[in-house]
Amino acid sequence: MTPVTIVGAGLGGLTLARVLHVHGLPAIVYEAEASAGARTQGGMLDIHERDGQLALKAAGLFDPFRALIHAGGEASRVLDPQGAVLMDQPDDGTGGRPEVLRGELRRLLLDSLPAGTVQWGRKLARVAALGDGQHELTFTDGASVTTGLLVGADGAWSKVRPLLSDATPAYAGATFIDTYLFDADARYPATAQAVGGGGMFAMTPGRGIFAHREPGGTLHAYIGLRRPAEWIAAIDFGDAAAAKARIAAEFDGWAPALTTLITHSDTPPVPRLLHTLPIGHRWSRVPGVTLLGDAAHLAPPAGEGANLAMLDGAELAQAIAAHPGDIEAALAVYESVMFPRGAVAAAGAHRILDLCLGDSAPFGLLDFFAGAFARRDASGEG
Ligand SMILES: Cc1cc2nc3c(=O)[nH]c(=O)nc-3n(C[C@H](O)[C@H](O)[C@H](O)COP(=O)(O)OP(=O)(O)OC[C@H]3O[C@@H](n4cnc5c(N)ncnc54)[C@H](O)[C@@H]3O)c2cc1C
Repeated sequence: MTPVTIVGAGLGGLTLARVLHVHGLPAIVYEAEASAGARTQGGMLDIHERDGQLALKAAGLFDPFRALIHAGGEASRVLDPQGAVLMDQPDDGTGGRPEVLRGELRRLLLDSLPAGTVQWGRKLARVAALGDGQHELTFTDGASVTTGLLVGADGAWSKVRPLLSDATPAYAGATFIDTYLFDADARYPATAQAVGGGGMFAMTPGRGIFAHREPGGTLHAYIGLRRPAEWIAAIDFGDAAAAKARIAAEFDGWAPALTTLITHSDTPPVPRLLHTLPIGHRWSRVPGVTLLGDAAHLAPPAGEGANLAMLDGAELAQAIAAHPGDIEAALAVYESVMFPRGAVAAAGAHRILDLCLGDSAPFGLLDFFAGAFARRDASGEG
């Protein structure tokens, strides 16, 4: 069989390549970045039993994944702006949503692929339909290839998506600004204590500080602001000190233990304007091409996107393996499950963003957590 052509070596594209490999099917992944280490793959990811963990089992990588888990990272707490604890749920060790570093998970997938599977420094510039399910990909270096099975795993700004749909991502009205404190237990003990052992949420309508403890005493925060894109664009992020001061001004009167995550960030603050595809984004079958992950169902960050991308990749590989010689049947089966799942997840992600930064903050999120923990306790699951 000719290799499945995958654009994008994110978690979704790599899981697809790996599960194809497990089934003895070849794949080639074209990735824009120059190398595996070209960009820091920051952040902790909760890997859920219902999606990310299923994908890792299909990939035959569940045991090595378990070795990457950051113990204690499942704790969550909600604080008020003065740092008083409104909710505190310790990590009970049952492991339903274990946390790992995104970069370590990506490395695990990369190392599990045959040498040469990922072609680094190959940025797709354009793709043309040749008919009969064939597509020609042209890269920014001028090289081109033709394929009979193309998968766009190229994220939010997918260059493959226009073959299937006119949809483009729209600004969701909120921005997350990345900050880090290193060695925080020693250098910023009050902040380290406020964040606790896992995730910490502190918010009022329109603004929030969401932090995660990472291994080695690192605190990683997303400073959430519900503001127009122009408001964010007016901040000079090239001047880190001025940007920190401008953002911190939005949290005037908040406890210094919390605002330290902004004012003392060891890294320059990086704005991530949240964009989304329409909820329920889908397309009619086009021969020889499909999408997975963010390229298919980009939604606000709510702890699901990477998990879904991995499950999409695993299920697409399984569908291809189950329909030898019938690519269209494989893609139809995959999309019939992926579309409704992506729609439900996107609707849930918009709801969570609203609970975090909307007018009900923080009480809507407290109710949400209370409901989730009650359901979990009732079902006896971890
Ligand atoms: C602030 C923030 C926090 C998040 N937190 C979480 C979380 O805690 N848990 C969770 O599950 N999800 C989280 N997400 C969502 C998650 O990051 C994405 O849903 C997930 O990365 C999607 O995976 P993917 O493989 O579809 O795409 P991506 O991870 O975006 O990978 C796409 C790949 O394609 C490559 N590419 C792009 N264009 C081209 C091109 N033209 N040619 C070749 N290669 C190309 C890119 O370089 C990249 O390597 C978060 C997102 C944000 C913005």
